[in-house]
Amino acid sequence: MDCAPRRDARRAGRWGGAMTVNLTQMYETKTEEAFRQSPPGMAHFAGTLGEDKTCRSCQNFQSNGHYSRSANRTKVHTLKPGSCSEFERLMKKRGPAIPHGTAACSHFAENPKPPKAMTP
Ligand code: SF4
Repeated sequence: MDCAPRRDARRAGRWGGAMTVNLTQMYETKTEEAFRQSPPGMAHFAGTLGEDKTCRSCQNFQSNGHYSRSANRTKVHTLKPGSCSEFERLMKKRGPAIPHGTAACSHFAENPKPPKAMTP
């Protein structure tokens, strides 16, 4: 008996996209949508706060400053992606930088002085 699909699923890990055409849907559609919209490095799924807030206005967002120049000039003066300190606390390692406009997660903590999305 061939057990290749089981081996592939084990190799892919718990979250590693083990879904094939032969498997059923892993999560509800809403959860899948949240999973798809969440960049790596977030403390929880994007949009789980349920309010119109973004990571930029969260205390856990660690700003890396603004772009001063860009090859095609589209990003000049915009806020760079930053890492999440809540992700770092939970995972015990620094995560990849997330875009500041990402929909906030349930670990959101209001920052009274959020960094500006653009510099003048
Ligand atoms: S909302 Fe805050 S806690 Fe959640 S991922 Fe963004 S920066 Fe991190």
